[in-house]
Amino acid sequence: MSSKRDYYEVLGVSKNASDAEIKKAYRKLAKQYHPDINPGNKEAEAKFKEINEAYEVLSDPQKRAQYDQFGHSAFEQGGFGGGFSGFGGFSDFDFGDFGDIFETFFGGFGGRTSSRTRRGPQKGADLKTSVEISFEEAAFGVEKEISIHRMEICDKCQGSGSKPGTSPVTCQHCNGTGQIQYKQRTPFGQFVNIKTCDVCHGEGKVITDPCDKCNGKGRVRNQNKIKVEIPAGINDGQTIRLGGGGEPGLKGGPSGDLFINVKVKPHAIFERKGNDIICEIPITFVQAALGAELEVPTLEGKVKYQIPEGTQTGSIFKLKNKGIPFIRGSGRGDQYFKVHVEVPKKLNEKQKAILREFAELSGDEVHEQRKSFFDKMKDALGM
Ligand SMILES: [Zn+2]
Ligand SMILES: [Zn+2]
Repeated sequence: MSSKRDYYEVLGVSKNASDAEIKKAYRKLAKQYHPDINPGNKEAEAKFKEINEAYEVLSDPQKRAQYDQFGHSAFEQGGFGGGFSGFGGFSDFDFGDFGDIFETFFGGFGGRTSSRTRRGPQKGADLKTSVEISFEEAAFGVEKEISIHRMEICDKCQGSGSKPGTSPVTCQHCNGTGQIQYKQRTPFGQFVNIKTCDVCHGEGKVITDPCDKCNGKGRVRNQNKIKVEIPAGINDGQTIRLGGGGEPGLKGGPSGDLFINVKVKPHAIFERKGNDIICEIPITFVQAALGAELEVPTLEGKVKYQIPEGTQTGSIFKLKNKGIPFIRGSGRGDQYFKVHVEVPKKLNEKQKAILREFAELSGDEVHEQRKSFFDKMKDALGM
C-alpha cells in the first residue's frame, strides 16, 4: 500500500473543494516551499514535490475522479495508470527543469514567448499589375509584353546569399539551433523562455562573406519583361492569373502568382454587351425609303447588308457570329446594328422643290404611322 499522504490533505483543502480553491491553495504552498526560497532545504524540496504531485492530480477533473475512487493506487505502476503516462515521469522530477514543468501547471502563465520559429518553405508573394489593350485585341486575343518589378533569386550566389565559393557558418550565438533560451524569475519561480536567435534570425547559420550582388539577401529586385497570352474574348476588368509569376518562394517554397488586370480601351464605334457587339449606323432617308445595300463595319472589316424598303429609324439588324468569341469554349456572339435615319439639313432650292412635289404626290398615304396617329387623334379628341 501507498504510504503517501492524502492529496487533499497535502493541499489543505476539503474533499469537495472547488477548482479555484485547489488552485489557490496550491499557489500559496508552492510559493512557501519553492526551492528558490528554501535553498538546500531537503524537507522543503520534498514538500514542494508532494504539493506539485497533489496538484497535478486534483487540478485534472479526470485524474481527480480516479483518485477519489481508487486513491493513490489509481496512479501506481501496474495499477490504473493507463491514462496517465505523463504522470510517471513526475518521480524523475528534476529541479533544473522546473520552469518547464511549472509552466505547464499554470496553463501558459508567463508562457513561452515563441516556440520554434525556424520556418519551412514559404510561398513567395503574389504580385499585381495591369495591362491596357484595344477592343480588337480583347476580341481576338493578343500576346503582350509587360514589365514588372519583382524580387528574384540572385543569379550570382544562386540565392544562398554567400559569396560564391563560401558558405554560411553555424551561428555561434545559438549554436545553430536558431533559438535562445533565457530564464525569467517571477514570484512563482523561474521560467525558461525560448526566443528566436536575433543574430541568425532563427536560421542557425550566419553568412560571413555576403554575396556582393544581393548583399547576402539571396534575392535581388529586377525589372522583368514578361510575355502574357491574353485570351480572345477577355472583357474589361477581368484578371489573368499567371501561376508562379510572383516573387520566388523561400527555402524551396513555390513562387507567388502574378495577377494581371486587363483594361480594354473603348472603341470608336463598337460597344460590347456580353459577347455581342452593338453599333449604330446613320442612313439617309432615301436609303431608308427605298432600301439599300449598306456597308456595315465589323471587327473583321466591312460586310454588305441589304436593308429593305421602308426601313424605320431605330430598326435593329443582326449579323450572326460577328460578335466576340467566348473566352471559354467555342463560338462567338453576334453583332447588332441599329440604323438611324438622318434628316437632311441645308437643302438647296432644287432639292426643296423636289421634296415639295413629292409631298404633294404622296399626301399622307405613304406615311402609315403618321396617318394612323392622326386617325387616333381625331377619335380621341372628337375633331
Ligand atoms: Zn547573391
Ligand atoms: Zn543564431
